[in-house]
Amino acid sequence: MRFLDLIVKKRGGLSHTPEEIRFIALSAAKGSVPDYQLSAWLMAVVLNGMDTAETVAMTREMLASGSRLSLKGFGRPKVDKHSTGGVGDGVSIALAPLAAAAGLVVPMMSGRGLGHTGGTLDKLEAIRGFKVDQPEAAIKRQLKSLGVCMFGQTADLAPADRKLYHLRDATGTVESLPLIVSSILSKKLAEDLDALVLDVKTGSGAFFGDFDRAHEGAEALVAVARGLGLKAAAVITSMDQPMGKYVGNGLEVRQAVEVLQGVTTAPDYVECLLVLGGWMLKLGRLARTPDEGRDLCEQLIRSGAALDRFRDMVAAQGGDPRVADEPDRLPKAAKTLTVQAPVSGFVTRLDARGVGIAGLLLGAGRTKMEDRLDYGAGIVLEKKLGDRVRKGETAAVLHGRDARCLNEARKKYLEALAIGARAPRIPPIVRKILCPAG
Ligand code: URA
Repeated sequence: MRFLDLIVKKRGGLSHTPEEIRFIALSAAKGSVPDYQLSAWLMAVVLNGMDTAETVAMTREMLASGSRLSLKGFGRPKVDKHSTGGVGDGVSIALAPLAAAAGLVVPMMSGRGLGHTGGTLDKLEAIRGFKVDQPEAAIKRQLKSLGVCMFGQTADLAPADRKLYHLRDATGTVESLPLIVSSILSKKLAEDLDALVLDVKTGSGAFFGDFDRAHEGAEALVAVARGLGLKAAAVITSMDQPMGKYVGNGLEVRQAVEVLQGVTTAPDYVECLLVLGGWMLKLGRLARTPDEGRDLCEQLIRSGAALDRFRDMVAAQGGDPRVADEPDRLPKAAKTLTVQAPVSGFVTRLDARGVGIAGLLLGAGRTKMEDRLDYGAGIVLEKKLGDRVRKGETAAVLHGRDARCLNEARKKYLEALAIGARAPRIPPIVRKILCPAG
């Protein structure tokens, strides 16, 4: 088989055979095809797509390009959650230990942030000493003892995705549904799961800007997962404004700690956490219904069991467990700047993408993978969509390294904020849930 012929075939809008897909995935994983050819094929897929059969085959072959965690004999359901990403979306940090406290095994392989969206690994590394690069034996040991491990993609798991994702990032070929679906699911299947809950974000801060695209993405993710024997449900959630009260790596760990301590000042975050947790327990058969699962999650927060599991996980992965009780130990930025509301009224817009870019300017994110992060940088959102605000009142507090970045971020934040005379209609956090029977 010649790679060039496959580029020409996809350029012409034709479908690949399973053998061709295997050749493409293996060539990517082994590095036996030059980057320019792989990039040309990726662009042909962006322009001409792949059908469901091709996407299932691509996912299977990307998975088969590496090894798979072997979690046999754990005796407990293995369930994970994946979010398509957004701003202030540190829900995984609270959810993984919470679900483990409920009795699930949660092998959560996560990624890094890029652009205006954050990444779970970066947030965890805001905890001094926390190690996300774990060898497979250590991952398994920890899953046996605690039921939860949060780690980065190892070289052995879905190596075809590692190669393709890097190239996509550099060639403007990230935005393609079949490529997104196969990328996400090949990694999740490598975790040897019984079930997966997908949090598909929609809104300005999300990958899928409008609801119809998010719906299409959710349907494709659930269908391809099920086509490969993985039970899956998708929860489509709003990302028009940032989730919760905090944006930034250390700040989002604080958010998770506060929520697990029972603080309720971020109702959208708590709602998302409980809905996702409820579905994880339902799919893992530890609850008969998602609502029963949700109740169990609430009990585990109230009893302190979820926070205990978070503390144990942090300690097991080399981090400072004291952050679970004293979040002030998390990194702090050198300077802060309070942003006051320019007029009185109601917050009618708090654009997630704009706030995410303000966070990026503060040092909380990166524009290229090599950029260094400031773990203390970020934004405390004192006012969210629908809140009443008086002129001069604190709308947000920016955390950053110097006056220059604080002033740039202030400008960006104010562009993302609109205050009007009338209270806006606030979209519900959960827009739709897709769960085919079975
Ligand atoms: N996350 C992934 O892991 N892959 C994609 O392609 C997009 C988001």
